[in-house]
Amino acid sequence: RALNFNAGPAALPLEVLEQAREEFVDFGGTGMSVMEMSHRSKTYEAIHNETAALVRELLGVPEGYDVLFLQGGASLQFAMVPMNFLPKGKAAGYVLTGSWSEKALKEAQRLGETFVAASTKDGHYRRIPGAEEISFGRDSAYLHVTSNNTIFGTQWTRFPDTGSVPLVADMSSDILSRKIDVRQFALIYAGAQKNLGPSGVTLVVVRQDMVERAPEDLPTMLQYRIHAKNNSLYNTPPTFGIYMMGLVLKWVKGQGGVEAVERRNREKAGLIYKVIDDNPDFYLGHAEPTSRSLMNVTFRLPTPELEKEFLDGAKAEGFVGLNGHRSVGGCRASLYNAVPVEHCAALRDYMVEFRKKHA
Ligand code: PLP
Repeated sequence: RALNFNAGPAALPLEVLEQAREEFVDFGGTGMSVMEMSHRSKTYEAIHNETAALVRELLGVPEGYDVLFLQGGASLQFAMVPMNFLPKGKAAGYVLTGSWSEKALKEAQRLGETFVAASTKDGHYRRIPGAEEISFGRDSAYLHVTSNNTIFGTQWTRFPDTGSVPLVADMSSDILSRKIDVRQFALIYAGAQKNLGPSGVTLVVVRQDMVERAPEDLPTMLQYRIHAKNNSLYNTPPTFGIYMMGLVLKWVKGQGGVEAVERRNREKAGLIYKVIDDNPDFYLGHAEPTSRSLMNVTFRLPTPELEKEFLDGAKAEGFVGLNGHRSVGGCRASLYNAVPVEHCAALRDYMVEFRKKHA
């Protein structure tokens, strides 16, 4: 297995892949692969409902919220959120903490009135804004945040208290990596391809009163209402991806649930951040320490030449995916749920050795 630090699609637990292989051509004695089954069959329906139930259980989704499996990635949610929740005469606030929040805002701007509630762009997105920096009116349609900034390596630790203003969060790159209180949010969305399974499924958790308030004249597939009413089976859902998500969720449960996964994630990130903190003139962490992401560790080396040597050497040793995002450069190690502690320890050792060689 590669030492896979890809930002997404990302590593999946080996046990999950092995179980999928086991069941690949014959699921449970049906003589069919899950991807060959009718989405209206009892067998598939059981997989579908079990996956939704596991999302509820592991994320702690309370009554009054729907769990939806959609397609189009998180990027389609950038549009579906304002289509459903941004009526004429109201404005939606966006907190800009990186490229994905910018994209979410841009899409909303096509559809209605928006405003920037806070932005840390001036400081190269090194930090998450404090509560006192975020401004929005009590009549705002909603406030949108990106819980983890995959490209810049920052993460919210405490979400803003928005009172009666609905809080919407893009959790694509940290869903199920730590405990959250779903009640704080009106809607959570996440592309599956980092912590939940293969790409092709988008998880949406949405408060039912929001769904009911949305306009009914939107194209059918773009209404949360339709998917909620039909248990995400209005049309053919991404059946194999949902089955895979179910396997990943069972794996999370087997690990001891979200609390246990969070503990491990803290340990993993701690290993890499310690090397950065121990060598502040050599490994230049991008994020301010209080805004650091447990999922994506971003750093630079003192020169482009050293960075290239670091990345080439890492590749030769079997590390995958350590290049920073093409828009910012540098290095990035993505430490999603499925990345084992041992792989993080191997990266730590490589970083320490590389530093010694260039002392
Ligand atoms: N939002 C965040 C925080 C992301 O990391 C990504 C990257 O994959 C996206 C949105 C875009 O997701 P998708 O490719 O599923 O549209």
